[in-house]
Amino acid sequence: MRMAIISDIHSNLEALTAVVQVMDELKVDEVVCLGDVVGYGPDPNEAIAIVRERALVIIAGNHDFASVGLTDTTYFNTVAREAAEWTGKVLTEEHRRFLSDLDYVYRRGHLLFVHATPEAPEQWYYLETIGDARRNFAAFSERVCFVGHSHVPVVLALTKQGEISVVTDQKVALTPEGRYLINVGSVGQPRDGNPNACFGLLDSEQGTFQLVRVGYAIATTQEKIRAAGLPEYLAARLALGL
Ligand code: ZN
Repeated sequence: MRMAIISDIHSNLEALTAVVQVMDELKVDEVVCLGDVVGYGPDPNEAIAIVRERALVIIAGNHDFASVGLTDTTYFNTVAREAAEWTGKVLTEEHRRFLSDLDYVYRRGHLLFVHATPEAPEQWYYLETIGDARRNFAAFSERVCFVGHSHVPVVLALTKQGEISVVTDQKVALTPEGRYLINVGSVGQPRDGNPNACFGLLDSEQGTFQLVRVGYAIATTQEKIRAAGLPEYLAARLALGL
């Protein structure tokens, strides 16, 4: 079975559409979304409609909850807050209800899915250091935990001996004795210096995981951001992948 794990779409319809097309080409059986369907970008309602249609499970991201007033935005930077307020105004009533009802965590067998960290899903912490990774590996019992939130894809492995390493293989062989903490990157606002949309692909038969990058019509999304009156910075950063 092939599962696509998508995260941080951020109302970017062009990126999402391009990713959906690639998921179809790859014959993905199932899609799980790690949240932040909205925020920053110009097409929140369109993004929600597509993700709801394609994803088996969608969990909550901080921007999803921020746009419906369910999380504190005082720690948001100005552009993030401005975009969250704009999103809150344009969301349909049905989509507002839909976002409000999302859960923080999804568990299935040896897989755990959460937007920010397994340690404290409701706190929206960032996983930045090896110390953070070590604490978070101790905070879940499943073999593999998928996260989003930072928009920077990375595969961390914990060996039986307790060593943590960054796995850079194009296709990662998930060993039965290893445990993994995997950031699947961002569909709609990558921040690892690569502007292409990013998502994760888990092949449970092969026991492999890989990150997939997809080019999309960035200029179209940028024009829509400007036309919506959202901050220019949100348009500019898409081309840089930052
Ligand atoms: Zn995000």
